[in-house]
Amino acid sequence: MTHDVLVVGSANADLVVPAERRPGPGETVLGGDTTISPGGKGANTAVAAARLGADVALLGAIGQDPYGAVLTESLRSAGVHTDLVKTVARPTGIAYITVTPDGENSILVSPGANHALEPADLDGALSGVKIMVASMEIPLPTVERAVAAAAEAGVRPLLNLSPAAEVSPATLAALDVLLVNEHEAAWLLGTGVEPEKLLGLGPRSAVVTLGARGALVVTRQGTTEVASPKVEAVDSTGAGDAFTGALTASLAAGASLEAAARRAVRVAAISVTRRGAQPSYPSAAEVPEQA
Ligand code: ATP
Repeated sequence: MTHDVLVVGSANADLVVPAERRPGPGETVLGGDTTISPGGKGANTAVAAARLGADVALLGAIGQDPYGAVLTESLRSAGVHTDLVKTVARPTGIAYITVTPDGENSILVSPGANHALEPADLDGALSGVKIMVASMEIPLPTVERAVAAAAEAGVRPLLNLSPAAEVSPATLAALDVLLVNEHEAAWLLGTGVEPEKLLGLGPRSAVVTLGARGALVVTRQGTTEVASPKVEAVDSTGAGDAFTGALTASLAAGASLEAAARRAVRVAAISVTRRGAQPSYPSAAEVPEQA
């Protein structure tokens, strides 16, 4: 089976527990009821793109446990193809998230099965694909192989460099679009971020997300600011992945990078007005293409 978009990335179960305070070393604190929700940057991106009508497959790894089943079900119900999600002999990735009344999160991630996603898993996965988008919660050699294999196969490679990590100059140079938030851009460039300098690292273009302010689209022709609609934000979890998924879906449908970013800020703005990551992502009908 071939698909327009291949997302290469993580799938995690987010176990969220509210607590008055987080436990100190050696301490036990009783918290509220646990909420289990599907997450992981790869799965979130795939769901966001599929909700908008893109033909998307996720290349990922889960364990043979109930969390893996929850993640697969969530992907399928959003319309993501799961034939490239492999089941391995490690536990499904889990993010243990404590939320305190001040809204602060503490997160402990156990990557588990995500660490079993290997470069060889890319073999044959790119045939017929238009756009490949990878993110960083999986082994670095797998990310680098995904980008190189996409470039070799004539597939547009996108990389959401999140969480920020050192990737090879060859990987950056092979990218069609490098996607980063402000912090990741600062990490890549050092202080005094001049977005144009991202292109000096090798990608053909770059997009920098700026939270409530929207995003910057950086190409050899110059830098364009794309303002975000003003919204009442209640939960920004997974906003970056909503943006990445929406940008990818529009590019797959033939939009220019700037037009894709204009739609992605509208999609991500809706996602921050709703709780959770995947459940907050809008459908195509909620975000019609603009002339
Ligand atoms: P996260 O880690 O929360 O998933 P991020 O740090 O990767 O996000 P941000 O730049 O914070 O990335 O947000 C991504 C996009 O989400 C922004 O470009 C913007 O379109 C949208 N967004 C985030 N916060 C807001 C907000 N308060 N109001 C409107 N849009 C927002």
